Amino acid sequence: WAFRKLNKENEDANIEYTRTATLLRIFSIFFIESVLCVILGFGGYLVYDGTFNAGELIEFITYFSTIIWPVMAISQLIEMNSRGAASLDRISVLLDQKPTVTDRDGARDLGTLSGSIELRNLSFTYPDSVTEVLKNLSFVINAGECVGIIGKTGSGKTTIVDLMLHIYNTPRGMLFFDGVDVNDITIESLRRNIAYVPQDNFLFSDTIENNIAFATDTHTEGDVVRAATLANVHSNITEFSEGYSTVLGERGITVSGGQKQRISIARALLKNAAILILDDSVSAVDTDTERVILENLRREREGKTTILIAHRVSTVSAMDKIIFIDDGALVDVGSHTELLSRCPEYKRTVLLQSLDDSSQ
Ligand code: ADP
Repeated sequence: WAFRKLNKENEDANIEYTRTATLLRIFSIFFIESVLCVILGFGGYLVYDGTFNAGELIEFITYFSTIIWPVMAISQLIEMNSRGAASLDRISVLLDQKPTVTDRDGARDLGTLSGSIELRNLSFTYPDSVTEVLKNLSFVINAGECVGIIGKTGSGKTTIVDLMLHIYNTPRGMLFFDGVDVNDITIESLRRNIAYVPQDNFLFSDTIENNIAFATDTHTEGDVVRAATLANVHSNITEFSEGYSTVLGERGITVSGGQKQRISIARALLKNAAILILDDSVSAVDTDTERVILENLRREREGKTTILIAHRVSTVSAMDKIIFIDDGALVDVGSHTELLSRCPEYKRTVLLQSLDDSSQ
C-alpha cells in the first residue's frame, strides 16, 4: 500500500512537472513569435513610411532571432542544471552514508585461517529491533569438521551465518575464529576465508565459466570443470550448445533453480576457502542429486571446515556434528545417532519429517 502511495505521488509530481514545463515552452514560443509579428508589423509600416528600408528590417529580424535562441538555451541549461543538482543531492546522501560495520581499531589480517569457530554465550538483537533473535548460544566447530545446523524456519540459522560473515556487529567476547575475537579480524581477511552459498544466490549476466570462477583469479579451465563436476552440474552445462561459454541471465539463457544452486556451489568450491557455508543451498535439487553433492563435498572438503544449514534432518544426518537450534537457543549438539538417542525434540523432528515424506 505504501509503495502504491509513493508511486502515485511520484506520478502526480511528474505529470505536474510535464504540464508546467510544456506550458512554459508554449508561452515562451508564443512570446517570441508575437514579438516577431510586432517587429514585422511595425517594421513593415516603417518600411512603407520610408523611415526604414527592407534590408534593414531583415537585418533587424536576423539580429533578434540570433539573440533569442541563446537566451532559450540558457533557460534550458538552468532547468537541466537544477534537475541534475537535485539528483546529485540524492546520490550524495547515499554515498555519504557511513557503514555501521567497519574494521575495529587494531583489527588484523589473519591470513589463512585453520577454520575453527566458537560461539560463546552469543545473544543478538538486530539493530532497529527489540526482539532477541539469538539467545545465549554456545557451540564449537573444530577446524576441518563437517557440521550441520538445523532448526525450524525463523529459528536464527541465517542470523548465525550473517554474524559469521560480519554483516552485523557482534558484541565482543561472543564469536571467535581460530580463537580470535571476530572484532579483531579485518572484515576483508575474514570474508576471504569464507565461501558462502546463500539461499538464493546471484548469477551474473555472463558466461557460466566466469560465473563459476567469479571468486578466483588463479584458475584453469580444468579447475572450473572439476568444481562443476563436484557440484553435479557439469553434465547440464555440456548439454548447452555453447557449454561453459553459455551466457546466462538477461542476454542469455535462464537456468532452473536447481541448476542455479549447483552453479553457485561450484563457485564456492572453486574459491577453496578455509570455511564453506551452504545456507539451504541444495533445497531445489532432488534427494538423489543432493546425496551425490553432499558426498562429493565431504570428500573434497576433507580437512576443511564445512557448515551446512538446513531445515531437513536428512540433509545433515551424515555430518560429523549436528547443531540443533530452536527459537534462537541451542537445543543440543551431537552426531545424528547421539541426538536420536538422547534428544527427544530431535527424535520428534525426525519422526515428523519422515511422516511428511511418506505422505508426499
Ligand atoms: P532461519 O534462517 O532459521 O529461517 P533467520 O535467522 O532468518 O531464521 O531469522 C530469525 C529471526 O530473526 C526471525 O524471527 C526473523 O524474523 C528475524 N530477522 C531476520 N532478519 C532480520 C532483520 N534484518 N531485522 C530484524 N529481524 C530479523
